[in-house]
Amino acid sequence: MYPGGRPPDADRGEAFRDDPHRPPHPSRRRPLEPPGGSRDRRGGRTARGGPGRPAAGAASPRAPAARAELARAAHHRPRHGRPHRRRGGRDPAPGDRCGGRPRGPRPAGTGRLRADLDALPLEEATGLPFASRTQGVCHACGHDVHTAGVLGAGLALKAVEDELVRRRIGVRLLFQPAEETIPGGAHAVMEHGGLDGVDRLLAVHCDPSIDVGTVGLRVGPITAASDSVHVALTGRGGHTSRPHLTQDLTYALGKVVTEVPAVLSRRLDPRDGATLVWGMVRSGSAPNIIPTRAECTGTLRILDAEAWHSTGPLIEEIVRSVVAPYGVGAEVTYVKGVPPVDNDNDAVVALSRAAMTLLGPHAVVPTKQSMGGEDLGWYLTQVPGAMARLGTRTPGGQTHELHQGDLVVDERAVVVAAQVLAGSVLTSVGTDGLV
Ligand SMILES: [Zn+2]
Ligand SMILES: [Zn+2]
Repeated sequence: MYPGGRPPDADRGEAFRDDPHRPPHPSRRRPLEPPGGSRDRRGGRTARGGPGRPAAGAASPRAPAARAELARAAHHRPRHGRPHRRRGGRDPAPGDRCGGRPRGPRPAGTGRLRADLDALPLEEATGLPFASRTQGVCHACGHDVHTAGVLGAGLALKAVEDELVRRRIGVRLLFQPAEETIPGGAHAVMEHGGLDGVDRLLAVHCDPSIDVGTVGLRVGPITAASDSVHVALTGRGGHTSRPHLTQDLTYALGKVVTEVPAVLSRRLDPRDGATLVWGMVRSGSAPNIIPTRAECTGTLRILDAEAWHSTGPLIEEIVRSVVAPYGVGAEVTYVKGVPPVDNDNDAVVALSRAAMTLLGPHAVVPTKQSMGGEDLGWYLTQVPGAMARLGTRTPGGQTHELHQGDLVVDERAVVVAAQVLAGSVLTSVGTDGLV
């Protein structure tokens, strides 16, 4: 933690640049709403006052509980991938009632708060009373928390709309489906003008390795590029007693699984941080049959954005060279997924100020660049912005893992997300634009 100062970048030795002489903005002295009053996801009552010091100026005394209810509703009804319209009309969106048309003069700066909506194709194993009611689908990446957090930020900002108009601050909320798929939903958002007129994009992502009430920040890349790789081998099958009369795809696939990552590690600069990991390997159906088709699929993750641009053709070249001695056919499908999320310095400053003002001087903790992928990275190739890691672990409690069916988050994180995002908007726009 940072003893009341500016957090250095953990593994790059950098510090983000905040002006220590800048007078505190009025909104930094007037937090948005009181945390507390909600329950954590194990049903325990959370301490009033929340994970940080108390904040004042609530839009509604019921606001924190309402945000937790939004998260529970989203958790209870998860959807994977892209939305599908229900028969008979439009799906009601949880945020319908808090919508509003912009009014007042043209904004000096417009911030966009982004949440991802989708769940994962995974069976929930939490046993929570509001666990997923959709078999085989659950929110195991915390996107329900992101959704409720951005909605909460929107409600809090709506409550101070007059101040936003007076200070010419524009805000838009972005709820994006299909973050977990490749290609992700960010492309559709951008194609439909979702970033038009946006000066800064902010988001949070759950991090079960840090305590609720804290946010992890760093300048520069905070996630990795992530692509999908699928290899399909075809050839002559036969009896396992006569492999010399076949092209033994299972053996050849074994070589692909072990040799392609090994060769890649010698063809790329180790500092690029490339790693190819297979998630599925499939070949054959019986112990004495050599199959005619075998396949594997996995993800290639790369820390360095420059190296990411040149790696696609290399994968295919390596696969072909590895299987060449066995005479099998190889089809490589390589799909570019997402670039690293590259956090902008000023956006990190805005998030950091809001977190330290609303949650306390120790609320910002350093974080490393992860090997995870996040399609927020596409947006940040177009507009500056940043993503904060949102602590979801109950202090002293179990450290959960994302993408696991037993993920449980401390629900106070919903209020923290709303506070930090709304506070970042209020502290990052001045009369002449973004500050
Ligand atoms: Zn995920
Ligand atoms: Zn996620």
